Amino acid sequence: MLPAQAAAWQHLERITREVFAGYGYEEFRVPVIEQTQLFKRSIGDFTDIVEKEMFSFVDQGEDHITLRPEATAGIVRAAISNGLLREGRLRVWCMGPMFRRERPQAGRYRQFHQIDAEAFGFEGPDVDAELVLLSARLLRRLGLTRIKLLVNSLGTPQVRAAYKDQLAAYFGAHEAALDEDSKRRLRGNPLRILDSKNPDMQSIVAGAPLLLDALDAESKAHFEGLCAHLRSAGIEYHIEPRLVRGLDYYTRSVFEWSTDALGSQSAVCAGGRYDGLVAQLGGPGTPGIGWAMGQERILMLLEKQGLIPPRDGPQVYLVLVGEGTEIQGFKLAEQLREARPGLKLQINLGGGSFKAQFKRADKSGAQFALILGDDEVARGVVALKALRQDLAQEECPMDRISERLGSLLGL
Ligand code: ATP
Ligand code: MG
Repeated sequence: MLPAQAAAWQHLERITREVFAGYGYEEFRVPVIEQTQLFKRSIGDFTDIVEKEMFSFVDQGEDHITLRPEATAGIVRAAISNGLLREGRLRVWCMGPMFRRERPQAGRYRQFHQIDAEAFGFEGPDVDAELVLLSARLLRRLGLTRIKLLVNSLGTPQVRAAYKDQLAAYFGAHEAALDEDSKRRLRGNPLRILDSKNPDMQSIVAGAPLLLDALDAESKAHFEGLCAHLRSAGIEYHIEPRLVRGLDYYTRSVFEWSTDALGSQSAVCAGGRYDGLVAQLGGPGTPGIGWAMGQERILMLLEKQGLIPPRDGPQVYLVLVGEGTEIQGFKLAEQLREARPGLKLQINLGGGSFKAQFKRADKSGAQFALILGDDEVARGVVALKALRQDLAQEECPMDRISERLGSLLGL
């Protein structure tokens, strides 16, 4: 992230904080490094992440550690070991870098960033709806369009296991036509063949039996509960019976926000329910649900849709000409920052001619230049010049300039 991109990242992160606060979610920060075993146990062996994408190594103390590929496992571990699930309920969010050894391309990086939401201790579809509404509000607050919501249900682990057998039988009968990846998945986790991005696999995938048709009554009611909430909130959704998640731990509701504006990196946010995960990691049996949003993909969309706010430069640039002005200039700058905590003021460093300093002032993006020369210092005044508006240059007594800037900049 280069300085020129800072405004965009800060914009996304600021809106994210505001939206989570609006739903009563608290921030959680978890370590970037965890025991490798944590991810193997939670994400599952037959997933892209564990099979080939983790940055794992043995450190000098013979510990097997991994740079986190996602946030859920670390949050669950930390919540269990700090007793946060004893009361049974928790609604949190997290933001930060994730690491996956993938082939880098636009929208796919080996270090990328996710915004992550998790809720623990809620059985019913109300929390599923809340989390989807939260993600919808975040996307809407950012002004994004051309994203659609896909939803599906994976049922209970029992239903899923039976469905896996059904899929294994179906794809087994078509094994000769499967690509290498799918053949491997057929033995490991046939559900993941549905996730195949290979166009040659699409017609076989299209003929596969659907899990939605085999759903148990409770999962069906749960899914209908989520859909009813979405309809009443006016959130358009599409039931996508082939939507599965790459991770093993999902049960019941899964969803994804998908865009056609970023080529094959179409998923901008994905999530679902994982009722068995907490117990699987040694905690008290607690249902959970969450989603993760790819910050780089969101930023690419913001950029494409012209929604990035302007670069966040200084408002005022202080030009210092003449021998004795540096000390006075620093004093003035500190006084102004003290008096106006919101003020963004950049001071000229390294001297330079009047003309050179004005060029820098212009390039800084500042709206105003303050000019302090020997003559101004002697008379106890400072000159103020608007750089982006057609206003006459004015002179202001030193003890009035803070007030003047405050009113000009609305501080
Ligand atoms: P994909 O199918 O694109 O590989 P995924 O299923 O691996 O996505 P998740 O594990 O669900 O992704 O992560 C949630 C979100 O994080 C994705 O929807 C995407 O926006 C983002 N994401 C995942 N991997 C990357 C990556 N390598 N670079 C940038 N963003 C990513
Ligand atoms: Mg992936």
